[in-house]
Amino acid sequence: MFAPIREAEGTRVERIILHSDLNAFYASVETMLHPELKGHPVAVCGSVEDRHGIVLTKSQQAKEAGVKTGMAIWQAKEKCPRLIVVQPHYDQYLKYSEAAHEIYSRYTDRIEPFGIDEVWLDVSDGQHSFSHGKTVADELRETMKSELGLTVSVGVSYNKIFAKLGSDMKKPDGTTVISEDSFKEKVWPLPASDLLFVGRATTKRLYGYGITTIGGIARTDPEYLRSWFGINGVKMWQFANGFDRSRVCNYGYEPPAKSVGHGITFTADLIDNTEVCHAFLELAQGVSKKLRATNAAAMAVSIFVRNNQLYWQQHQAKLANPTQSWRDLAETAFTLFREKYNWRHPIRSLTITAIRLIPADAPRQTDLFFDQEAFEKQEKLEKAVLDIRRRFGNAAVTLAGLMNNKKLPGGRLDEQFVLPNAMVQ
Ligand SMILES: [Mg+2]
Repeated sequence: MFAPIREAEGTRVERIILHSDLNAFYASVETMLHPELKGHPVAVCGSVEDRHGIVLTKSQQAKEAGVKTGMAIWQAKEKCPRLIVVQPHYDQYLKYSEAAHEIYSRYTDRIEPFGIDEVWLDVSDGQHSFSHGKTVADELRETMKSELGLTVSVGVSYNKIFAKLGSDMKKPDGTTVISEDSFKEKVWPLPASDLLFVGRATTKRLYGYGITTIGGIARTDPEYLRSWFGINGVKMWQFANGFDRSRVCNYGYEPPAKSVGHGITFTADLIDNTEVCHAFLELAQGVSKKLRATNAAAMAVSIFVRNNQLYWQQHQAKLANPTQSWRDLAETAFTLFREKYNWRHPIRSLTITAIRLIPADAPRQTDLFFDQEAFEKQEKLEKAVLDIRRRFGNAAVTLAGLMNNKKLPGGRLDEQFVLPNAMVQ
């Protein structure tokens, strides 16, 4: 074992961690598939036909014009009138994400995916110098460009937190090394919100205590941070000081299933939102069960609606967080339905499909103060319901609204459940 040595870049280090981030991933893939887009400001947006759809990613040119991720299309076009809006093609993004993963696997088998376009790599493997990390990072960038036509930004550091911050510093196509000697100068001036897991709510509270930068967190007495934020305050302080020791977890990467769906053709047409709401709850349970069985979580939901004239429409929406929860799936599906369906005709069949699947044990890209307790409680309840249904059949537990619903194939019993807020009409 080697003790950590506090010396300059190029001298002996204990771990060499890389964080690699595909630049403007969706927009870059679109530009590559449609070269005529090259050099233009491009935004990949959810629901393009709807001017309230939002920007998922944007090209460098669009970014320079002030277009931001999460902006509504109309806002983005106000900022950048020449903006070209394109629809997402998730199957292509998954294909390129897998190809990138194959390139990473040439360097190490310790690869931890973080969302579809980011990974951590542990390339220590007998090497103890950051110059090795930088060499790998530069090679990776070249290989991505020549083999996939995509660029990545790579951070090289001795812990995952700083490696991730490093990959944000030179975009597109850059390598940034953050050593134990340089982190105070490179990391500490950054806004507190740049630190992984410090979300909007936490940032606001930190501001209240006069802390605005990562350095501010690092220099605060960890006992104060503990008294304000509990154990998460201490974690934040550790992250800011480079004491993060978490390992790069290898998930035994397997190409994920593309999607998991569940559909019903009703015995009689559905005629209002209430019936659709109930049907979505039922369908979402089926999808949730399949997700849990394959240890996958969905980043987005797609709904397929067919009316009694046999015309169909399909829509999709991004989820706030990757999920396996039927409540999340049903709520998003129903919200989407209410936005899109105009009820000119009754409905014959409905399908919910979980799309953009990632491994369920991938870390949640969320606020450090994500309500873990409430989340676990809900997970427990959902697992219990699915378990009872597995053992005693679907009729054993169902939702209050489904009682006596003659339009769903199969008999139903009742069980009282609280509906998610957005589904209460
Ligand atoms: Mg990216």
